[in-house]
Order: sequence, then structure tokens, then C-alpha cells
Amino acid sequence: MDSLRNYEIDFVKLKLGQHHFDYKIDDSFFGLKENSLIEHGKVNVHLLIDKKDRLMNLTFTIEGIVMTDCDICLDAFNLPINGIELIAIKIVDEPKESDGEIIYLGPNAISFNVYDHIYEIICTCMPMTKTCKNNTPKNKLCNPQMLKFLSESNDSSQNIEKNTDPRWDKLKNIKD
Ligand SMILES: [Zn+2]
Repeated sequence: MDSLRNYEIDFVKLKLGQHHFDYKIDDSFFGLKENSLIEHGKVNVHLLIDKKDRLMNLTFTIEGIVMTDCDICLDAFNLPINGIELIAIKIVDEPKESDGEIIYLGPNAISFNVYDHIYEIICTCMPMTKTCKNNTPKNKLCNPQMLKFLSESNDSSQNIEKNTDPRWDKLKNIKD
């Protein structure tokens, strides 16, 4: 069972230089989040911390699968995700609000929890449009019964056309 404590980095104990952390995320990771958008997944997270004086550069590398619902036929499928995200932590005398990429901590801070960051990175790795075409392994197609149902109600199929991300159209052309 996963716990938030596993994601606490006691950075005061780290020497200057590079440090590596590996997290093997499974369903219990997502169970820690209230109202998580994701319930099932297997994701490997590698965190590289480059510690300098009053500054730490964090590089998160994420790769795995999460279970999600197809935007077209609503079937659940395994969506492959991967991405890299950088965050800097600065130790300052008067900490101010984070501006997204830089987090400010006061001089007495001794640890930092990366759980929420990993969760958010996984969410942002998911494409805007998620369809069975993106699944892995590549053996799933949209649920034919649902497609039939959708094509019988013209209104909803038109809505789906409009909502399609134009970037996927480009990918479609490459595949076809
Ligand atoms: Zn589908």
C-alpha cells in the first residue's frame, strides 16, 4: 500500500549534487487522491534532484499506462503515457507563492512532498482526446455496438466531430 510519506523528500539530508529516486506507481497511488480522475494505472517515475546551494532542480521522467475511458465509445482502455517535467525549488528568506515552475521555501524548510506534482504530471501527460486508437497493446478498437448506437443518433455524432482535437487528425493521416 502506497502512502504520502513515500513521496516526502528530506532534502536537508541530501548532499550537494545529483540524487536519483524511483517510484513504481500502481492503483494505490491514485487511491491516495480524493476524487482522483484516474483509478488504475502502472507508471514508473524517475526523479533526478540536482541539489545546489539554496536551489534544487527536479526532473521528473514518467512512463507507463493508465486506464481511462474512450471519448468516442466510452470503453475503458489502457492509455500509454510518457513525459518529462522540470520543477525548481528555491530556498528564500521570504517565501512567496509558487509560480508553477518555481517553488519557494523558507530557510527552515527541511522536506518537500512530490506526490501532488507526480499526480499532476501524470494528468497533464494524458492527451485531450483519448480514444481506443491510442491504446496499448494495439489490439483494441472502439466498441462496435456503441459506434452503431452513436451513428443512429446524429446529434451526438456531430458533437464528437466538433470536439475532435485537430492534432489527432494529423496523426490519423500518418497512420492511414
Ligand atoms: Zn473507443
